[in-house]
Amino acid sequence: MAFISSGYNPDKPMEDRITDIGPRKFDEFLPPVIKKNFGEWDYHEILEPGILVHVAKSGDKVYTIRCGGARLMTTSHIREMLEIADKHCGGHLRFTTRNNVEFMVDDEAKMKALKEDLASRKFAGGSNKFPIGGTGAGITNIVHTQGWVHCHTPATDASGPVKAVMDDCYEHFTSMDLPAPLRISLACCLNMCGAVHASDIGLVGIHRKPPIIDHSVLDNVCEIPLAVSACPLGAIKPTKTELQGEKVNTVAVNENRCMYCGNCYTMCPALPLADKEGDGIAIMVGGKISNRISEPKFSKVVVAYVPNEPPRWPTLTKTVKNIVEVYSKNARKYERLGDWAERIGWEKFFELTGIPFTHHCIDDFRDPAYYTWRQSTQFKFTSHVK
Ligand code: SF4
Ligand code: SF4
Repeated sequence: MAFISSGYNPDKPMEDRITDIGPRKFDEFLPPVIKKNFGEWDYHEILEPGILVHVAKSGDKVYTIRCGGARLMTTSHIREMLEIADKHCGGHLRFTTRNNVEFMVDDEAKMKALKEDLASRKFAGGSNKFPIGGTGAGITNIVHTQGWVHCHTPATDASGPVKAVMDDCYEHFTSMDLPAPLRISLACCLNMCGAVHASDIGLVGIHRKPPIIDHSVLDNVCEIPLAVSACPLGAIKPTKTELQGEKVNTVAVNENRCMYCGNCYTMCPALPLADKEGDGIAIMVGGKISNRISEPKFSKVVVAYVPNEPPRWPTLTKTVKNIVEVYSKNARKYERLGDWAERIGWEKFFELTGIPFTHHCIDDFRDPAYYTWRQSTQFKFTSHVK
């Protein structure tokens, strides 16, 4: 395509440069009914899955329809949302913290027309463009990351597994039949961009092989001390090696110490470690962020590895679905997955879900690992004990 200038002058890059202006102020975009009743809301109700009504002290009402969003979307899709917003909502819409989209209207008749319109829109492949749901005690959108679409450190994809898991859990997106909300998040590497470490179910891409060392370029492309200090286990040391008769500075990785976190690769491009067979996903459960009844919790690893199986990740989706269903059947009302697992005991969690417990799940990282072992005689016999 022929070059079209925006007016920027590369010969004088600092001329007419606008900087530090920050984002647009949020209240420029508020629908009139929100602006008018800002800070004056009385109560709210969930009318049905995906549909809320907030009532202001003035008596004004705002109906909200929440729709699933794929997060990664084209400008055409955004334009379609804008068309819907123009048609029904005076041009207003918003995105939630879990990347759903919400359309708001100020009376019930408008809400019904909007609902019908949204439900009718599908992609050529058959998927719903704007599935209504994500409220109350169900499964809402999956907070996820870049995967093979854009990052260089992933051990799995993000968009692919998220589509597969949401397809499998779709009935819980469009209903509110769980004991409490169930948050699923995915990160494609242990950097854990997002919320996996504090979700009811967290899916994390992991490696199982140490990095390959490209001695020929390492000293040219890496700041060696940074790679050394990137390692949480002290597995890396600076060293010299002979390469085609030449002495080069490089690093050595003690493979017995390495746990394949990939941190050294983040620091040093000469230490790649992605591997088709080695890489996969670890499943964690029991995290939460809210302070409701119990304190916030980290999620805990319960399945150390499931393989990457593009494009539909069947082992992953089956394992997740099973955890959801067993929790749904056994937990008490208002119990988040972590509240439930802690009440019944983790040995019972493993027994009920049928997940095989492996030594990989036993913490062995530094002094704090000790506090995750059981320093009590209190436990329950399970079918695991033969
Ligand atoms: S989780 Fe890791 S691989 Fe995924 S986007 Fe973040 S840094 Fe990249
Ligand atoms: S992958 Fe992680 S544990 Fe292994 S050498 Fe690199 S930084 Fe250390």
